[in-house]
Amino acid sequence: MNGAGGVFADTGSGHDAPVPCIQPRMRPSAGSTTRKLLLAFGALVALFAAASGFALGRLSDIHEGSRTLREAGGRVRDALELATAVRDEYAHLAHTVILGNASHVRFHSEARARVEALTRKLWDQAQDAEERAWVADIRESGDALDRLYRESLLPAVLAKDQGAVTAAHGHALEKVNIIQARADALASRFDASIGRFEDHVAAVERASFRWALLFLGGATLFAAGVGVYIGNSVARPVARLSEGAARLSQGDLRTRIPEDDPGELGQLAAQFNRMMEAVRTHQEQWVQHEKLAGIGRLAAGVAHEINNPLGVILGYVRLLQRKAEGGLAEDLKVVEEEAMRCQDIVEGLLDLSRPGRGPLERVPLREACEDVVGRLREAARLGDVRVSVEGEAAAWVQPPRLRQVLLNLVKNAAEAAGEGGSVEVRIEAGGDGATSVAVSDSGPGMTPEERARLFEPFFTTKPTGTGLGLAVSQAIAEAHGGRIEADTGPLGGARFTLRLPPPTRAQEALS
Ligand code: ADP
Repeated sequence: MNGAGGVFADTGSGHDAPVPCIQPRMRPSAGSTTRKLLLAFGALVALFAAASGFALGRLSDIHEGSRTLREAGGRVRDALELATAVRDEYAHLAHTVILGNASHVRFHSEARARVEALTRKLWDQAQDAEERAWVADIRESGDALDRLYRESLLPAVLAKDQGAVTAAHGHALEKVNIIQARADALASRFDASIGRFEDHVAAVERASFRWALLFLGGATLFAAGVGVYIGNSVARPVARLSEGAARLSQGDLRTRIPEDDPGELGQLAAQFNRMMEAVRTHQEQWVQHEKLAGIGRLAAGVAHEINNPLGVILGYVRLLQRKAEGGLAEDLKVVEEEAMRCQDIVEGLLDLSRPGRGPLERVPLREACEDVVGRLREAARLGDVRVSVEGEAAAWVQPPRLRQVLLNLVKNAAEAAGEGGSVEVRIEAGGDGATSVAVSDSGPGMTPEERARLFEPFFTTKPTGTGLGLAVSQAIAEAHGGRIEADTGPLGGARFTLRLPPPTRAQEALS
């Protein structure tokens, strides 16, 4: 009992069953999504840095303006204080005149010292030539006032010289007026500069507020844009991938993920889809192979047991046919045909269990095809179907197995073409040494449903068909490292193309 190991247990041809594999078809474009994300985040950070830098600059302007305002306020206070101090000095001068003694000399000196200190301060704070000239006037008039008090007015008061007192007092009043006028002018000047600074600081504040609003609004909009961009270009594709993976884990191998993302995530989706396709194809092949293997094991187990009684039945039927006549002879003919059909099925099942065993030989394909056509014609299986064989090539195969495949394909084509139809067998060799034999017919072709099930064991649309011919042929082709493909051919009907791999180096060396 042979072939219990199933179709792929031993192909005998040295070729393994085709296992789909995922090819790395495209190189991922070096991190384009990462680059875009970095760019978006970089732009965001740069915008916030620019906004912060601008805000800090404006704050420093405002701070500087406030400091200048405080200083200008201090200068106004100093100028007004100087005017007060001069009036104070004058008051002590007047008291000296009124009291007619030296009791206010000490107070006058103190007031004088304050005036001098404030004059020095204002000199330091003066900002232009005019202000410095006014402060110089104050200093000169102050010095003159002091000299008048000590050298003229006080001696005249003590000497009770009314005329000299009156004259000195008049001069002193002039000096006091000059000092007060200059101090007032300085105060007004400083006050005006305060007004200007206040306007400037207010303008800076307004501009800062506008820009801050613009930056904050712009940054918020930009951040929202970056968020939407990340959502579209990363989060959504990742979610779709995750959904696809979830559907896959639930066993949905037909799930597909949209590949519209232009970056790596789109490529990942495409890879994922290819992986799905490969897994699905592999699974289907595996199921088919397991099915065939199971059938093969079963067939191998019972083939002998059925073959023997079938042989006995056929022997007796043929013996009885010699003596039988009339209706009995016809009945025996039916029994013989059905028994032979059973034999075909058993043979087919056994073929499925051992599609490839035996040595490979270099076979000229044209000869093999013509031989098959000749045999079919001899056996009257072609009727008046025209069969042509075109092209030439050679392949390394097991001759009986190749013949079996060609026989199945040409027989099916002739049956599909029907009386008066035509069949074309075209042999071709590719540049790499791979060969193909395409059998086309002028029959009705196949419906999509038939096409999907052609290679299933026991699928047949013929009343007396076994549905094993194409399944066995495909198993044999795969055992040789090739395959059979079905499509619509040039004669309008179906075309079945047997593809065989190129020879190995050792085979080439032997050719
Ligand atoms: P069978 O010939 O015993 O039916 P096969 O496995 O050889 O078994 O073929 C399976 C089925 O494939 C056929 O019944 C038929 O429906 C379809 N088929 C095969 N060859 C052709 C063809 N040349 N044109 C149209 N249909 C075909």
